[in-house]
Amino acid sequence: METTDAFVGLECVDCAATYDAADEPHQCPACGGMLDPSYDYDAIDLDREALESRPFDSQWRYAELLPFTRESAVTSDEGATALVDCPNLADELGVERLLIKDDGRNPTGSTADRGQSLALTAASQHGATDVVLASTGNSGQSAAAYAGRAGLESHTYVPSRSSFTNKAMVNVHGGEMNVVGGRFDDAVGAYEEGLAEHDDWYSVQSFVTPYRHEGAKTTLYEIIERLEWSVPDIVAYPTGVGVGLVGAYKAATELQELGLIDESPALYATQAEGCAPIVDAFENDRDVHEPVETPDTICGELEIADPPASRRVLEALSETDGGAVATADRDILEAAVQVAQHTGLEMAPSAAAAASGVWELAERDAFDGDETVVIVNTASGNKEGDVLRSHLMSQGI
Ligand SMILES: [Zn+2]
Repeated sequence: METTDAFVGLECVDCAATYDAADEPHQCPACGGMLDPSYDYDAIDLDREALESRPFDSQWRYAELLPFTRESAVTSDEGATALVDCPNLADELGVERLLIKDDGRNPTGSTADRGQSLALTAASQHGATDVVLASTGNSGQSAAAYAGRAGLESHTYVPSRSSFTNKAMVNVHGGEMNVVGGRFDDAVGAYEEGLAEHDDWYSVQSFVTPYRHEGAKTTLYEIIERLEWSVPDIVAYPTGVGVGLVGAYKAATELQELGLIDESPALYATQAEGCAPIVDAFENDRDVHEPVETPDTICGELEIADPPASRRVLEALSETDGGAVATADRDILEAAVQVAQHTGLEMAPSAAAAASGVWELAERDAFDGDETVVIVNTASGNKEGDVLRSHLMSQGI
C-alpha cells in the first residue's frame, strides 16, 4: 500500500489490538470492534505556516494526517468547502459569530465524499473489484461516484424511502442499486446477505471500513484553520450514524497533539425527535444508546434507530463538554427554510437538524452572547428540494 510516513496501522478501539492496514482492512478480527487508523504524531512535522502556505484545494492538503498519499488517492478534490459567516443569524441567535460549514459543496453534494475518497482509495489498493454498502442515500451516491472513478463496481442497498436524487445518481454513476422495503435496518440486513453471498465484495460501510470516519475528520481541520486557529465554542453536527462526530473528535485530539490548538470545541449532536437515540442516551447519562423501536422522521439521513458506534459518539460529546439536542421535524424543515431565506445557503432537511438544534439551544438560553458557533451542513438542499417545498405548502405558502 502507498501509505503516508506517520501512518502506523489500524488499532481496535475496543481491545487495542493492532493490525497492518495491508492485511486487515475492516473490523477487528479478535473482538469485532471498530478499527481506527493510528499515527506516530512525533513523526509529523506540520505547523500553521506550512498549512497556510498550501492552496485550499481539497482534503488531501492534510495528507500527513491521512493514511494514504495524495498521489495514490481516489479523489475528486472533495473537501476544502466554504465556511460562511452568517451575521444576521448570529444576531437572531444572540451569539458573536455564526458560521455554516457548507459540506453540501462536495462533488456529490454531501460530506460523505470525504470518507468515500479514503475508503475507495483503500479498496483500490487492496485490489478490490466490487464495493458494497448500505446507505440512507448520500453515502451510497458518493460510493457509486468514487467507485466509478476508481474503475470498481459498486453495490448499494438503500431503504425505499431514500431520496429520488440519491437513487437516480447511484444509477447515473453506473452503480448497482438495490432498493429495500422498510427502513435503514432492513437495508443493512440486505447488505449483510449480499456480502455473505459474495466473497470478493469489499465493504465501504461506515464503521466497518476504518476509513469513513477518518475522512470525516478533515471537516474540523478546515473549520479551525479557516478561523485562523481560533477554536469555535460549539460545532453542531446533524447525527445519524455519527461518522462526522467521531471524525471531529479525532481531529480535535490530533490538532492538540500536534500543538496546533490548545482545546477542543464543544461538539454537539443534533437529531430529530422521531429518532434520537444519541440525544436520549446523552440526556440519561448512558454511555451507549438504546435502539429506537419505531423511528419516525422526515429526515431520512437521521433515521438510524440503532447506531453502531454510539459509544464513540457519546464519548466525543462528553469529552469535549458538548451536548445533544433533538427537535421536531417541522422545526428542522423550518430551520432549513429560514437559513435559505436569510443566507442563501441550501441545507438538506436532515442537515438542517443542526441549525434547528442551535436555535433550540438559544431558546434554552444556552448562549452568553460572545460565542462562535459553527453549524455543519452535511448535504446540499437540492438533494431533497421536494421535502423542503412540501413544508412550505403545509404552511400554506
Ligand atoms: Zn478488538
